[in-house]
Amino acid sequence: MRKRMEISLLVFLLILPLLLTSALVSISKTGATGNGQRHVTLEENAPSWPMPENYTTEDYLNTTNPYSQISPQGEETDCEGSNPLYVLVFGDEEERSAVRALEGSPPRPYGWISWATMQLERGDESLTANFGIDIRILDFLEWDSDDSIEYMSDDFEYDLCDELLAEKGHYLDQWYAGEHWSNYVDCIIGITSQATPETASTWGVAPSHNELDQGKIFVLLKWMTYWKDDNLAQHEISHLFYADDHRSDVNCCVMASTHTHFQTIIWEGYFWFVFAYVPCDLTAYSWCPICYYRIESNRTRYLQTLTISATSGGETYPEPGTYKYNYGESVSVLAIASAGYSFVYWLLDGYPVYDRWIHVTMNSDHDIRAFFRRDNSGGGGGTPGMPTSILP
Ligand SMILES: [Zn+2]
Ligand SMILES: [Zn+2]
Repeated sequence: MRKRMEISLLVFLLILPLLLTSALVSISKTGATGNGQRHVTLEENAPSWPMPENYTTEDYLNTTNPYSQISPQGEETDCEGSNPLYVLVFGDEEERSAVRALEGSPPRPYGWISWATMQLERGDESLTANFGIDIRILDFLEWDSDDSIEYMSDDFEYDLCDELLAEKGHYLDQWYAGEHWSNYVDCIIGITSQATPETASTWGVAPSHNELDQGKIFVLLKWMTYWKDDNLAQHEISHLFYADDHRSDVNCCVMASTHTHFQTIIWEGYFWFVFAYVPCDLTAYSWCPICYYRIESNRTRYLQTLTISATSGGETYPEPGTYKYNYGESVSVLAIASAGYSFVYWLLDGYPVYDRWIHVTMNSDHDIRAFFRRDNSGGGGGTPGMPTSILP
């Protein structure tokens, strides 16, 4: 371990003059990008490959998101998944005035909206590829965080998460027609740049299982640095699907904040000089088997379930089964009696509906069952329209 560190350092020192004089690279101070480290960036049109001569993949950690279709030099082509998570993003006043830059010549500035768009879309690439979980940003709105609040998250005090929920929680499960998408709001994401004493340790907050079960679907983020921020987003969104922070440090995982590795130089679009122990949750894009299974089991968490069934004597369209819909979607189902049978009624969550076409608004999980009865051909039997005799 120590030996490898020394070799890496040696290689770095040997190639430093090469880097400094290379026509391909320039050195500049990080400004608002935040890690305070000097780093090397490629010129605007410089090829990012090949690396400098004799510079092998053992000399740095490539943390480029393997699922990413977005690069700092390229276009955003976000792929879409079948399990959308519709989010409304709120920037507080400190965040809205922040200007970040990715190095280049000239450096390209990012306002809070373009930075959030980039990092949230980068952050869901692995979720989309593995689970079809797809962050869809409805809109960006303002949130004026209370400057007297000290903490992002504090179980005993009114914190920024509490304030975000108190001020913006009413958007949850409401229809929102946004610039990018229109849908019911599954989740509110707050982004703060307010100084908090836990800044060294806490960069993101997500709900507990209890809060998730109560419908408190939110994430609070504080951006750090380009190469960390997509991992942060992936980590916190994973919590919305019941993946937990690791308590032990056995496995590498995007949920493992306790597992660290010494990193010298990180490549993620640019060279980032790190030389520090970095937890896995800032470099990993994958999950350990436990976290993977947890997310897999809950990936349709933000879809609504419609269960369709029927008694004998008829069919339904769509046919009986379990279906998933976006929150608020309107679904129509038709009951079709077989020859010799008649449709009697639907039971929608236990309540009768007498039209053959039933229209269900998917504002929660619903259960519908079609009841049919044999036609009365012998003159006896029950009175039509009185279905009590065939109730289970
Ligand atoms: Zn690890
Ligand atoms: Zn894990």
